[in-house]
Amino acid sequence: MQRYGIEIWGENNFVIIEDKVCINHRSRPAIFDIVQDIREQGSNGPLLLRFPHLIRKQINAIFTTFHNAFEELDYQGDFHAVFPLKVNQYPDFLMPLLQAGKAYGYGLEAGSKAELIIAMSYIQEGAPITVNGFKDKEMIELGFLSAKMGHEITLTIEGINELESIIEVADEMGTPVPNIGIRIKLHSTGSGIWSKSGGINSKFGLTSTELLEAMELLRTHNLLERFTMLHFHIGSQMTQIGNLKKALREAGNIYADLLNMGALNLNSINLGGGLGVEYTQNEAYPEVTYSLKEYASDTTFTLQQIARAKGVREPDILIESGRFIAASHAVLVAPVFELFSEEYSIKALRLKEQNPPLIEELHELYKFIKPENALEYLHDSIDHLNSLMTLFNLGYIDLTDRSNSEILTHLIIRKAIVLLKNKPVRELLQIQDKIQEKYLVNFSIFQSLPDFWGLAQHFPVMPLSKLDTMPTRSASLWDITCDSDGEIDFDNKNPLFLHSVDLDEEEYFLGFFKVGAYQEVLGMKHNLFTRPTTATIAIDEEGYRIEELVKSDPLIDILEDLNYNPLTIQNRLLENIQNSVHIDAQTRAEIYRRMESFLHENGYLKTFN
Ligand SMILES: *Cc1c(COP(=O)(O)O)cnc(C)c1O
Repeated sequence: MQRYGIEIWGENNFVIIEDKVCINHRSRPAIFDIVQDIREQGSNGPLLLRFPHLIRKQINAIFTTFHNAFEELDYQGDFHAVFPLKVNQYPDFLMPLLQAGKAYGYGLEAGSKAELIIAMSYIQEGAPITVNGFKDKEMIELGFLSAKMGHEITLTIEGINELESIIEVADEMGTPVPNIGIRIKLHSTGSGIWSKSGGINSKFGLTSTELLEAMELLRTHNLLERFTMLHFHIGSQMTQIGNLKKALREAGNIYADLLNMGALNLNSINLGGGLGVEYTQNEAYPEVTYSLKEYASDTTFTLQQIARAKGVREPDILIESGRFIAASHAVLVAPVFELFSEEYSIKALRLKEQNPPLIEELHELYKFIKPENALEYLHDSIDHLNSLMTLFNLGYIDLTDRSNSEILTHLIIRKAIVLLKNKPVRELLQIQDKIQEKYLVNFSIFQSLPDFWGLAQHFPVMPLSKLDTMPTRSASLWDITCDSDGEIDFDNKNPLFLHSVDLDEEEYFLGFFKVGAYQEVLGMKHNLFTRPTTATIAIDEEGYRIEELVKSDPLIDILEDLNYNPLTIQNRLLENIQNSVHIDAQTRAEIYRRMESFLHENGYLKTFN
């Protein structure tokens, strides 16, 4: 049975029961059934399913693991965590997160004015707010307003000029002044595609010289007592722990030296985000090579060592992990719309009395292929197809011959795949790119997997059903945009095999997992495909409930978003229909009625029901 690496990326969140992927929680519903249920309520196109219990699971994991590490080492500081809003700002995600974090005093991180407004509206009593990112005076003023509202807010300065603005605003607005954090530019960096946030050339943070300058400024303006936090962020999706350890040693020593220089209220180190998520489906190549436990104990141990060596108090530790909290809670489900070689059936053959010799040979190969010769015949057929294409281009065979050779080759491939099922995979893998099937999938990669489009980040993918049968087709996936970048190629290192399905008879859905971090807000409206229909699924012992069903935008709203006036669109359509001369009034009314109903549906394709 093909398990699609669910043991490595699934983290026990999902389980295969009989032929379906199920949510491994309480009543263990099949995702397929949930999807059918939602579609019966009239939602076509892709679906984004949220599972709040998986948000809770990650929050519990972070706090419990750090608390345990602190206890084990008898660490003297406190532990705090905030959720960085840029990872997912949607209320359907944020409300369950806040609820799950309440008991822990889980806070929020904001990187822009809009995010700060969300934080100021929803932060819970006593929980911290941190503010990163570039700030103008207005944003700093927002921070002061938040402090006046009684929030536990820390403004992290990214450069000396921001400190100068804080000094100005403090003069104008007086107390309370928010806590001040300083982001430091470390020598150490992360690794991988998201590591640019760290290192000496990073966009953010103060160099050691600027740090000394900042200390002087703070002292001169009587703000030194507001300086409470040191911050660094070595980049998202940290794949190895070694880089963090280096960064911690750097930050820890800076912390101790600043305390010794008189930063009397400096009491915490903010490690930023970066805690990695396992996306791979190939057990031989894990992306993340450490555990949360390692992350927590290494952090605690390193900072404790430095504090002891330099004779200063152990700092509070604050983390801003986002990807780790949000990624696993959302699953994108996309229906397969079409298999491209479906039209290659024996019925479609148009063999002539007299066929070109290579086509006769293809026909023989097709008739006599068996397990012992399957690989050889497969090679031959692909060779023949190439030769026949050359003959066509040179004008020696006609369109019917060409169609026959394509059909025969595909039929041979399909037979061979079945016959070779028990052969070593390596041999087959070598020719997979020649025999792969293209699955047209009813979703937009630009909208729903932007990090695949932009950064080639892999997201685990598997079919939601038929898991009791062996998938035999090596698959490449095409989305429904008119853009050739909207494609997930077959990849020998991460091969995806899917089932042969007759879509007239049954539906076939692909699940893309771990799409809950960053993908939703980064998603682009290429070809005007918008956010898929989104549903929150609560699971209990008896079954599940669909909560918060948010339907994908109808066409008229999409156009309004681009600044078209919906009334003008409707009037123009009406006018164009009235001006068409060859139809009667009844037909006109009919056309308009159909147009109206299209305008109020979403733009995704309709499959099956
Ligand atoms: C993006 C970001 C985070 C979140 O990073 P993850 O890798 O998602 O955990 C945390 N802190 C800062 C400053 C960031 O820019």
